[in-house]
Amino acid sequence: MKKATKVLALLLSAAMLMSVLTACGGGAAETTDAAETTEAADTETADTETADTTAAADTETEAPAAEDEAAEAPAAVTAQEGVLTFGTNAEFPPFEFVAANGVIDQYDGIDMAIAKQIAEENGMTAAIENMEFDSLLIALQNGQIDAVIAGMTVTDERKEAVDFSTPYYTATQVMIVKEDSDIAKASDMADKKICVVQGYTGETCVSDMGYDYEAFKKGTEAVLELVNGKCDVVVIDSATAQKYVSDNEGLKIVEDPEAFASEEYAIAVQKGNTALLDMINSAIEAKLADGTISELSAQYLDADSAE
Ligand code: GLN
Repeated sequence: MKKATKVLALLLSAAMLMSVLTACGGGAAETTDAAETTEAADTETADTETADTTAAADTETEAPAAEDEAAEAPAAVTAQEGVLTFGTNAEFPPFEFVAANGVIDQYDGIDMAIAKQIAEENGMTAAIENMEFDSLLIALQNGQIDAVIAGMTVTDERKEAVDFSTPYYTATQVMIVKEDSDIAKASDMADKKICVVQGYTGETCVSDMGYDYEAFKKGTEAVLELVNGKCDVVVIDSATAQKYVSDNEGLKIVEDPEAFASEEYAIAVQKGNTALLDMINSAIEAKLADGTISELSAQYLDADSAE
C-alpha cells in the first residue's frame, strides 16, 4: 500500500515534469496538466512570452535593399521588376548555407532551391538577403524582403507578427553530445553546460525547461564549443544537427521525442499578403505532392553525409 502510494507519487511527479518538458517546440505552452505530448506543435496555446521573436524588435536590421523604396510594397505578389526577395540566415545547413556555387548566387541548400523554384515557376527571379536570424521578421514587416525562408518553425508567437505558408518540413529539436556522453534524455541536461543558438526554437525549449544555457550567434560556434569540451550539449534542429555531426568527429545525436515536440518549417510573408501567400502555398503544395521537397531534402542530406 505504502509502496503503491509512493509509486503513484512518483508517477505524478514524472507526469508533471513531463508536462514541463513537453512545453517546447511549436507553441511553448505553459499548462501544468500532463497528457498531450507531440501534438503540442499544432495546438493554439495563446501562450505568454517566449524569448525569440520579441527580441527581434530591438535588433537593427542590416543593409536595407539598395535601390527600392522599402516602405510601401505590401499586397502585390511581387516584388519590383519581377524579383522575389527572400530573407534568410545562411547559417543553417542543409537548408541554407554559403557555397562557392549556390543555387541562388552564393546561397545553397534545400530552402534556397525551393525559393528559386517558387520564383521561377511564377516568372520571377529569386534574390536572397542574408541577415541575422533575429532580424528576419522585422525585415519582413518593414518590407525590406518579400518573404522569409529560413528553416523557420511556425510558432504562435511568430504568427502574431507574420503569416505562414503551408509547412514544408517537419523537424524536432535534438541534442548533440560527445560520443562518450552520458546524456540520454533531455532531463539529463539539468546539471550540464548547455549551448543553444540565439533566437532559435532550441533556445525557447531549453529556457522553457528551466535550464541555464549559453546562447551563440551561430550553430557552428555552439558546436565548436562542444568539440572543444567547453560545453556538454548543443540543442538544435534535427537535420542541422545531422550535418554538424557528420562534419565533426566524435559527436553523436541524442533524441528525446517525449521532451521535444515536432516543429514545422514554413515560409513567412507579411501579414495580409494573401496574393503572395497563395502563390507560395500552391507551389509548396505541388512540391510536397510530387516529391520535389523530399528529393531535395534527401539530396542535401546525402551530400552532407558523403563528405
Ligand atoms: N527552426 C529554428 C527556428 O525557427 C531554427 C531556424 C534557423 O536557425 N534557421 O527557430
